Amino acid sequence: MMHRFLLLLFLLPLLAFAQDVVQDVETIPDKTTLKILNPSLQDQQTLKMRLPNGLEAILVSDPHVKQSSVTMTVQAGAWQDPDAHPGLAHFLEHMLFMGTREYPAESEFERFISEHGGRTNAFTHGDFTSYIFSVQTSGLPEALKRFASFFKEPLFNPSGVERELHAIDQEFAQAFNNEIMRQYFVIKNLANPDHPVHRFQSGNSATLSKATTQTLKTWFDEHYSANLMHLYVLSSLPLSELKTQVASAFTAIPNKDRSPFQTSAAVFQKTLQGSLVRMASLKNDYTLSLFWEVPAHFSKMLDSHPEDVICYVLGHEGKESLLAFLKRSGLAFELSCGSFDISSSTHLLNLQIKLTKKGFEENNLVLMRVFQALKRLREESFPPSLFQEISQLYAQRYQFQEHDEPFDWATKQAGWLAQEPIETFPELSQIISKFDPQAISDLMKGITAEKAVIVLSAPKEAHTDTLDQKEPWMQIAYRIDPIEKEQLQKWTSIETDPAIHFPKPNPFIAYRLSSSESLYKRQDYPNIPSPAILLENAGIRFYYTKDPFYHVPRSFISFDIQSPVIKDGSPQSVVLTDLYVDALVDHLNEMIYDAKTADLNVSIERNLGAIRITLEGFSESLQKFFPPFIQQLLNLQLSEVRFAILREGLQKEYENVLREMPVLQTLDYFKAAAYRSYTTYAQKRSAIGKISFETFQNFASKLLKKTFIQGMFVSSLPKEEALELVKTLDRSLHPTASSYAAPYTPQTNSFPEKGPFSILSSTKAQGDALMLILEINGFSPTLRNTQQILSMALSPAFFSELRTKQQTGYIVLSNSLDLEKHLYNYFAAQSTSHTPQELLWRFEQFLEAYVQNLKTSEIPQERFELLKAALATAIQEPPPSLKSYGEQQFKLAFEIKDLDWMKKRLAELPSLTYEHFISFATDFLGRQNKRRLAIQLDGKIEDEQAALNYEPLRNIAAFRAVK
Ligand SMILES: [Zn+2]
Repeated sequence: MMHRFLLLLFLLPLLAFAQDVVQDVETIPDKTTLKILNPSLQDQQTLKMRLPNGLEAILVSDPHVKQSSVTMTVQAGAWQDPDAHPGLAHFLEHMLFMGTREYPAESEFERFISEHGGRTNAFTHGDFTSYIFSVQTSGLPEALKRFASFFKEPLFNPSGVERELHAIDQEFAQAFNNEIMRQYFVIKNLANPDHPVHRFQSGNSATLSKATTQTLKTWFDEHYSANLMHLYVLSSLPLSELKTQVASAFTAIPNKDRSPFQTSAAVFQKTLQGSLVRMASLKNDYTLSLFWEVPAHFSKMLDSHPEDVICYVLGHEGKESLLAFLKRSGLAFELSCGSFDISSSTHLLNLQIKLTKKGFEENNLVLMRVFQALKRLREESFPPSLFQEISQLYAQRYQFQEHDEPFDWATKQAGWLAQEPIETFPELSQIISKFDPQAISDLMKGITAEKAVIVLSAPKEAHTDTLDQKEPWMQIAYRIDPIEKEQLQKWTSIETDPAIHFPKPNPFIAYRLSSSESLYKRQDYPNIPSPAILLENAGIRFYYTKDPFYHVPRSFISFDIQSPVIKDGSPQSVVLTDLYVDALVDHLNEMIYDAKTADLNVSIERNLGAIRITLEGFSESLQKFFPPFIQQLLNLQLSEVRFAILREGLQKEYENVLREMPVLQTLDYFKAAAYRSYTTYAQKRSAIGKISFETFQNFASKLLKKTFIQGMFVSSLPKEEALELVKTLDRSLHPTASSYAAPYTPQTNSFPEKGPFSILSSTKAQGDALMLILEINGFSPTLRNTQQILSMALSPAFFSELRTKQQTGYIVLSNSLDLEKHLYNYFAAQSTSHTPQELLWRFEQFLEAYVQNLKTSEIPQERFELLKAALATAIQEPPPSLKSYGEQQFKLAFEIKDLDWMKKRLAELPSLTYEHFISFATDFLGRQNKRRLAIQLDGKIEDEQAALNYEPLRNIAAFRAVK
C-alpha cells in the first residue's frame, strides 16, 4: 500500500510537468497536397510540431504498424570535425549509445531495445547525423526517455571510448570491400583541400586515439543543439499520447541556437575538372564513372528536382537510350545515373557505366557516345509530355506507397529530415511537382566534358600506365591525367546521334488506379481462407487468392519454370541456366525497364533447379505487360557476339564473389552442406570456361520443350481475369501436351549426428569470418515456434556479448532459419582482429554460459511468457505488404507444402509449456547436440599483428630457439 502512494506522489508532479510542456508546443500546419490512397495507410494521422527549445517533431500515428520506430536527424556532422581529430563526429555518434547521465549503464539503450524486439542504427554524414531505432510499442515511452537523454548529457565514459574505437576500426575495415566506397575515397582525396569532404571522416584508432572524454564533450556542446534537431516518430499509439511523451522527453534538450554547417567552397577545383582518373578496382570489373558537381541552389529545388529529371533520361534503358546504343555496340553491360549526395546540399551528378572488355579498351568511344547523349539534353528543349509522365509516375509511387518494415521506414526518413522543411515533409522529397525547363537547361550547361571528373576503374593489371599515386586511407592505387584541351572541345562540340533520343511514352503506365475499403480486420490473420488452386493440369499448378487485406490495385505473381535439363547439382547445367537467365534479361531488358519505371517490378533468376519469374506492381500494368512479355520470353534470340559478352559478364560475377564480404561467402558453404545437390561458386567458376556457343544453343533449344510450372498469384484482379493471364502462360509454354511430368523439389540433407565438424577455407576479401550452424532434429509447427522464441532472446544476447562487449567484429549476427523443412540456428561474425578459430571458441563459450544461465537470468519463466505472447502477436499480424504476403504464400505452398502452416503454428502455440521449452533449448544448444557445423573462412587482414595467431611449434626446444 505504501508503495502505491509513494509512486503516485512521484507521478503527480510528473504528470503536471507533462501538461505544461504540451501547452508550450507549437503546432505546425501540414502543407502536403497529395492524399495517400493506399487503404492500409489511410488511418495514418500526422502531427507536426515545434517544441519550445526549437526541436521539430513529426508524429505519425498508424494503427496498423507492428512496431514503433523513431528517427532523429541532427544537423551537425563530420564536416565540422576538429582538425586534430578526424572522425570525431562519427565517433561521437557511437559514443551516444554508451551511457548518459540519466541512464549511465554502458549500452543500456541497446539492451533495452533488443529486449523489446527492436533494432538500432546510426550514421554520420557530412552535415547531419541520424539515429534510428525500432521497438515494440509497449516499450516506446521508456525508449523515448532513454533516447532523448542521448542529446542532453552523454557521459563519454573513458572505458567505452576505448572499446568503441575498436568498433570504428572494424567498421572502416569493412568498407574496404566496397567498390563505390573506394571510388568515393579517391574522389575525396582529389577534392578541393579547402572543402571538408577532402578530409577523413570515418576516423580510426590512429586519428582518434587522442580524443578524450573532454574533447567529445566540448564538440558536443558546440554542435548539438535542439534547434538543429528533427525528430520523426511512427507508432500505433494515438497522437495525443505521442505528443505528451515526446514533449516531456525532448523539451529539456538544451537549445544553444546553433546554425547548420555551410561552406561556399567548391568540391571540384578548376584544375580537377576535365581530367581522367584511372584507379585500381578490387573486383574484376571495368567501370566508367563521370562526376559533376551540382551547384548548391539546384539541390534545393525540391519542387522540380532538375537532377532527377535529367537522370531519368540519361539513365533510361529503352530502345533509343544511351545504354541500348552502347549495348548494341558491345561496349557496356549496365548504366545508371543518379545524384550522389555527399551532404544535404552538396550533390554530385553521377553517370556510372559498367563496361565490357571491349568498352574498357575503347573507352574514348564510350565517352563520345555519352557526350552525344548529353548534347541532345543540352540543346533540345525538354519535352513537356515526358515531364508529365515522370511527374505522374512519382506521384503514383507516393500515393500508393505501402507499409514497410518499421525500422526501414524510419531509416528512409533520415535524409529527408535533413533537407525538407517540416511543413511539406515528406512530400517534396518524394514527388516532382513542378516542370522547370529553365532549371533543367541551366543545370545541363554545367554537365559538359570540361567540367567532368572522369574515373576509369579496372583491376590494376588492366591499366596500361602505372598507377603512381596512393589514396592514403585505403591505399588505393590511382593516377590522374588532364584530358587534352582539343579532346575536350571535340566532345563538347560533338554532333548528336539520331540513335540516342528522348524516351518514348511508356506503354505500361497504369491510369485507372483506385482503391477500396478493407474487408477483413487485420487481426483475423492467419485464419482467413488460404489461396486455392486456380489452374492445374499435368504441366502447371497455380494458386490464386484475391488480395485479402491490402486493397491496393496491385498484383503479385511468381512462378517457377522447371525443366529436366536444369540440374541443380551439375555445374555445367547450372552455368547454362544462369547464362540462359542472363540472355532472357538481356533480350527483354528494354521492355522490363519500362515496366519497372511504371512501378511493375520484374525479376528473372535461377533459384536452385528452376527459373523463377516474379512480377509485382499495379494490376493494370501487369495486364498490359504480361501477354507480350510471355510471348517475348519464348522468342529468345541470341547472337554469338552477344553470347560472348554475356559469358564475360557472368564469369566476372562468379569471380567477384571471392571479393564479397567473407561473412556473406560462408553462405555458399552452408548451402552446399544443406542441399543434397548444389553447385558452389568455385564449381561454377571452373565450369563456365568450357561452355561454347553451340553447347548453349543446344541447351536453350531444349529448355522450354518440356516444362512444369508452379506459381502463386495474389491480386486485386478478380479470379476470371487472373485465370486468363495464367492460361496465356500455360498455352504459350505448353502448346501441345508436352509437360515435364516429374516436378522437381530441392532435397536437403540432415547434418550428421556424429559431429561437430568444421570446414576451413580462405578468401581474398578483407577480414576473417566464422559461421556456426546448429541443426534441430525434426520439423513441426511446435518446433518452429520453440526455435523462434529461443531466437528472439538468443540473438540480441549473442550480439551484445560478441559485438558490444567482446568487440570481436563489426558484423555480428545470429538468427533462426527454416530451409526446405529443416530448422537451423546460425551464429556469424566477421572480424579483422580475431581468427576464425578464436571466434569459434568464443561462440561455444557464449552458448555454454547461455545454457547454464537459461532458467535463472537468460529466460526465466516470466520472460518466456512475454516472448510467447510476442510471437503470437507476430503470427497474427499479416505481412506488411501485398508483395510480402505473396512471397510468404509461395513459400508455404511450394517449400513447406502446407498452406495452413501459419494457422497450425498459431493453434499449437498456447500448449507450449515452459518445461518443454527449457528442455528443448538445453538439448539443442548444449554440447550433446552434435549436429554442428563451423565454417571458418580465412581472409586478408591489414594488420596481422592484431590477431592472436598461435604458431604451432614442435616442442619446447623450438620455443626456446625463437629469437
Ligand atoms: Zn559507425
